[in-house]
Amino acid sequence: MAAPQTTTGSSPLSQPVTMLWGVGGERAKQLARLDIRTIEDLLLHKPRRHEDRRNFRAIKELQIGEAATVRGKIIAAGVKRWRQGERALFEFVLDDGSAHLHCRWWQAQPWMEEYFATGREFLVFGKPESLRPRTIDHPETELVEEGVESFVHFNRIVPIYPLTEGLQQRWLRGLMWRTLEKFVAASRESAANLSERVNVDEKLAALARDAATLPSRANAIHMLHFPEALDDTEIARKRLALDEFVALQSQIQARRNNFETRAQALPCAGDNRLIKPFLAGLGFKLTGAQTRVLREIRAAMGGAHPMRRLLQGDVGSGKTAVAACTALMALESGFNVALMAPTEILAEQHFRNFAGWLEPLGVRVELQTGSRKTGVDVLRFACSVKQQGTAPPALDATRNTQHASLFVGTHALLTASFDLPNLGLVIIDEQHKFGVAQREQLVRKGRYPHLLVMTATPIPRTLGLTLYGDLDLSVIDELPPGRGRLKTFVRFTDALPKVWSFIREKLAAGRQAYVVYPRVEDNVDGMKAVTKEFDNLQAKLAPFRVGLLHGRLGGREKEAVMAAFRANTVNVLLATSLIEVGVDVPNATVMLIENAEAFGLAQLHQLRGRIGRGEHESYCILISDAKKPESRSRLQVLEETNDGFRIAEADLKLRGPGELLGQQQSGLPRFRFGDLATDLDLIRRAREIVAAR
Ligand code: ADP
Ligand code: MG
Repeated sequence: MAAPQTTTGSSPLSQPVTMLWGVGGERAKQLARLDIRTIEDLLLHKPRRHEDRRNFRAIKELQIGEAATVRGKIIAAGVKRWRQGERALFEFVLDDGSAHLHCRWWQAQPWMEEYFATGREFLVFGKPESLRPRTIDHPETELVEEGVESFVHFNRIVPIYPLTEGLQQRWLRGLMWRTLEKFVAASRESAANLSERVNVDEKLAALARDAATLPSRANAIHMLHFPEALDDTEIARKRLALDEFVALQSQIQARRNNFETRAQALPCAGDNRLIKPFLAGLGFKLTGAQTRVLREIRAAMGGAHPMRRLLQGDVGSGKTAVAACTALMALESGFNVALMAPTEILAEQHFRNFAGWLEPLGVRVELQTGSRKTGVDVLRFACSVKQQGTAPPALDATRNTQHASLFVGTHALLTASFDLPNLGLVIIDEQHKFGVAQREQLVRKGRYPHLLVMTATPIPRTLGLTLYGDLDLSVIDELPPGRGRLKTFVRFTDALPKVWSFIREKLAAGRQAYVVYPRVEDNVDGMKAVTKEFDNLQAKLAPFRVGLLHGRLGGREKEAVMAAFRANTVNVLLATSLIEVGVDVPNATVMLIENAEAFGLAQLHQLRGRIGRGEHESYCILISDAKKPESRSRLQVLEETNDGFRIAEADLKLRGPGELLGQQQSGLPRFRFGDLATDLDLIRRAREIVAAR
């Protein structure tokens, strides 16, 4: 197969726009404001819409609120001023022989009187506000100039581009036409490769079904600007999006190949000697999905190349037990394991769980967070080993294959001074809270350790294949049995009194509740609101006890609140969205979320994953006063389904990948044409194309 082609300085498309006829320094500056620097940038400048100029609407036939283009001559124009020096309105009247159209601008500009001169012919696009007289406010206009290039601007479907100050639609369209002629038409004839890295055209021709549906890149670029039918623009977009996805998938593939040829796997499949007693003492039987996933993981941990795997499973599907078994495989094989969680609370919780599970098996578990260091826990270990009646650990226990350790922590694990010797496996919980860079930073602490990243935000396939395209995938698609049902309700604030008495009922029956406030703590006022709400809540729910959890608390304070909540000495936890990830208190069965509209759907789904973990029926109440039908129907998705994948997909469509994954997620590329919410099929094709090389 041909080597990937890269655009080099000598490629004609990477030349600066200034080498085009008619583009001087001033024009280049204007184009740069639109991020157009090279000829390729120009060719990929996407029209904002197209206008069918094969027929124009007669002014007489304009309808209110319906966008249309008309063509006519200006028969009158002028500025209307209410009082000297006050805001002025500019207006002209257009005549196309069928009727008159008034075009108005509420801010008259100095250039308008000269430009919209009586007698000139204009195209006008916009939505009529009224028909008596026929009026459009702030229309888009284009001067009709008869000239050599008029076939570019008339009697066809024409592109309308995003512009910047000083740049005219007609000028840019002309430039585009000439540039297409010069660079694209030639290559269409010779079928030369206009794609950047991989010759996708060739690949498409090889995959017969695609050849039938998608044009060559050169044709697509032409269609993008000057389509023959309006539907063609979507075909063009798809073809160009495919190139973007292919470029990304090749990068992913290259990263992976590079990794696989350089790295030899550490043998970490284990021998079951710790897993057996662990499972026996666990208190429940693994689900079929958990067992299947563990089989996949074991095969990978014994493979020739280091495992790089994404473990997906909806909230509550039992990823922690899978993580523990995976850790045990490496520990059994004599290697240390690092487990990184995004918050101190979660790290503490993992530490407590894993210590409880693994220390009886003779495995040392250490904690490394911003506020807790490992030293303390070495003592704990000594005690727990003594209880077990085994010998105390050797001082260099971490290097002793008999005594491999598990290090649990937050990003504090990443600090340079923190050494992780003999590292066989890295586990990252709630990966979407970390960037790809942080993931790799932890992996680099060892010599190509195995990697397991876990995520509870179900990731739509499109994102999974792009963002995590270099990872293999294991999915836990089954919840443990015996869960109480979880019901979700969307309510207005006026339902709150009823909701509170409902919560009191549940508390009286011995259950616990979360009350969640959006992230309002970022400023002083926000903190005041949280503390005030805390006082209110205590008064409202007395004698039940309320605890407060927010991001400004120190590690020990947080831990104390959580401990009290776990022990049910605190019955209600008022929290900012901090508890979103991982917290596991099965007796908590009610969650009230205020200002629910401030959260994304995936985030709300995560939040409510804190309840419905025990055998009791659980209730999530989303309070929102958002009245717009679309904001309510968005929240109602949560009433309708508990399927995290469906929810994540809805969220991706409504709010985009950045919102779905959080700001941390830096690994996401920007696409000009690709759309992660809808282009699953194209992403799949891109992978096929890259794999076929
Ligand atoms: P998540 O996938 O969200 O991290 P957890 O690992 O926290 O979920 O598990 C949620 C709850 O389900 C925990 O209380 C855990 O002990 C329990 N659990 C996990 N696996 C099983 C199982 N196979 N059977 C019963 N309960 C389970
Ligand atoms: Mg979890």
